[in-house]
Amino acid sequence: MALVIFKAFWTAIASAAASVLLALLVLPFFGATLGSLGLMMCIVCPLVIAWPASAYMFWQNDKLQAAHRELSRAHAQLAAAHRRLAEKARHDDMTGMLNRESFFGVLERARRKTDSGALLIIDADHFKSINDRFGHLTGDEALLQIVAALRGGVRSGDVLGRIGGEEFAALLVGASEEEAIRIAERIRRQVEEIRFRVEGDRVIPLTVSIGGTLCAPGATVSELMRSADRRLYEAKNRGRNLVIFGSGGKDETEAA
Ligand code: GH3
Ligand code: MG
Ligand code: MG
Repeated sequence: MALVIFKAFWTAIASAAASVLLALLVLPFFGATLGSLGLMMCIVCPLVIAWPASAYMFWQNDKLQAAHRELSRAHAQLAAAHRRLAEKARHDDMTGMLNRESFFGVLERARRKTDSGALLIIDADHFKSINDRFGHLTGDEALLQIVAALRGGVRSGDVLGRIGGEEFAALLVGASEEEAIRIAERIRRQVEEIRFRVEGDRVIPLTVSIGGTLCAPGATVSELMRSADRRLYEAKNRGRNLVIFGSGGKDETEAA
């Protein structure tokens, strides 16, 4: 407010000075001179009019700027909240991994950029029986330990997603067949090595079956998923806790 008064004061002084100057310049053209009454009017009128008018204008301007700042702040907060929400919507709440939709989105985009890499589908074995025997909460803990093993098994830069309840997928960016099998086998082994304790000291086994496929040139995302899924199905049929990897069907490689 002090600044508004200060600015209004100097605006009024400037107006009075301009008024006197104008009168001094214009009156001689009409053959008149500026008397003491005229001089007083030239000073008093601008002071009386310009001072409240400019004070009001500066005050309104200040209010407008404050409202504008407030609006910008609210806008920035809203944009940040929107980013946080969008990010949250892309992830699965329980595991923090990309959810199914986002994982497929990433896979689609990766396919458009390059034909290299490999896809794994990883499914927890006999998971229903863990829930049935020890309850859903214990099942959740087991799932989180499996998730930690998955995270530890892939390389930084690989993409993990939860594509079903106890089913996950990994995009192994740029991986060759040998690398992909090595990573899948590392995941399988790390899950197998989890010492999952229930009811005190009892340790129950946790295992996963993994089906994998190389990202063949030109193959669509659903073709890749079908191919990896076929191998997962085979790993389950062959007894579980197994990696089956292939690059097209005939040249399958079995590991573990
Ligand atoms: P398989 O080896 O053939 O995969 O057997 P499975 O029991 O793992 O497969 P099935 O599809 O019969 O059952 C999956 C189970 O996983 C059933 C479901 O309740 C459980 N499950 C899925 N998501 C979660 C979860 O977030 N928490 C818990 N506790 N259980 C889950
Ligand atoms: Mg399962
Ligand atoms: Mg499953």
